[in-house]
Amino acid sequence: MECIGCGYCCHDSLCGLAYGYYGGRVLPCPALIRRAGRFYCGLYEKSKPPLRAILGYALGIGHGCPNEDIRQLVELGREMVKLLERGTVPMEEKGDDEDD
Ligand code: SF4
Ligand code: SF4
Repeated sequence: MECIGCGYCCHDSLCGLAYGYYGGRVLPCPALIRRAGRFYCGLYEKSKPPLRAILGYALGIGHGCPNEDIRQLVELGREMVKLLERGTVPMEEKGDDEDD
């Protein structure tokens, strides 16, 4: 499933690279950077070849999201925020046979 750059994964836990680089558990990962509404791995973004290719492979950059459930929840949350901002949260319609 395509990564939407929500950043949940790196807010919730550190990858091995972050553990090695920062030497402890600090959340969210200090390497996270936000650009145009998406989160990116700053260590990868700032790396140069050939390290960049190695990090990209190790982090699974470009290979989608392994947290399908979380990604779907994040997308649902974003839709809810849009509806709330528009003041148009849909109410479940009553079926014909429910109101007697
Ligand atoms: S979509 Fe998945 S892999 Fe991409 S940032 Fe969100 S949780 Fe991480
Ligand atoms: S180092 Fe990059 S991939 Fe790893 S947790 Fe931090 S931001 Fe995420």
